[in-house]
Amino acid sequence: MESTPRSFHRHLIFPFHYAPKEETIFFVATISDKPGALAAFLSVLSKRVNLIGTSSYSLGGNTAIYSGFGKLLAKHTTASSLHAEIAKSRKVKSCQVWKSRNGLIVDRFHTGFQGGVGEPYLVFPARGLSDTFEGIVRVIGTGGSTLLYDLGLDYAKARSGIYKKMMGAHPESHIDELAAIVTALGYGHSEAALSPDRKSIRITSIECFECSTPSRSGRRCSFLRGMAVGIFGPLFDVDMVSEETKCRNAGDDLCEFVLKAKDGQPLVGAPKRP
Ligand SMILES: [Zn+2]
Repeated sequence: MESTPRSFHRHLIFPFHYAPKEETIFFVATISDKPGALAAFLSVLSKRVNLIGTSSYSLGGNTAIYSGFGKLLAKHTTASSLHAEIAKSRKVKSCQVWKSRNGLIVDRFHTGFQGGVGEPYLVFPARGLSDTFEGIVRVIGTGGSTLLYDLGLDYAKARSGIYKKMMGAHPESHIDELAAIVTALGYGHSEAALSPDRKSIRITSIECFECSTPSRSGRRCSFLRGMAVGIFGPLFDVDMVSEETKCRNAGDDLCEFVLKAKDGQPLVGAPKRP
């Protein structure tokens, strides 16, 4: 298998879809979790619809949700005629279909997203958040950056318990996995590594969300810097300090953060602190 060079593969999500010249649908079906059920459902659907995007997940108890957006192959197909055809399949437990109006079709079923540890998520554009942070620093001044650092720190600390549980007794061997989680969540393409002397963690972020829009205030990525300390501090059971050594807002092509123990001791391998 060919390995892909560093690139950005973003999930395409469809809370709604707008295609002014097309007739589209949104469907949600409860189907059996058993082998073949999804294939049977798709064979009915594929006669009428070109799929644009789908999602599926198990609800447990031999039941799965399969939903998605599709383009109708024939304009005369209605939501109710498609529903009737799908309902004939014995593998489909229930189904709902909605048709677009003036090119707009909305997911009428889901109410947000859920992350890997069960917490509800909302979708907010990365650039929107960057601009929001910019507004805070513009109004409050440098105190705004301190505020964002504290907020990032508190945000991450509140979630550090679950990460501590997942990473176990040797967090140093899971640093790259943590960076991968941050990347998968869309904060920026992140990498993290422990220095050879084990005294610091270097984190880099390409396309970091926090400096994804131009800054007039000259702020750096304080929220992320706080977040890094809030996650890695509790994980290594160490009071940490951090510095953003590179930032796109300072003309660098990526952001770089260096985390160290406040007392300068190695992060692992040293005698346990009192
Ligand atoms: Zn930055």
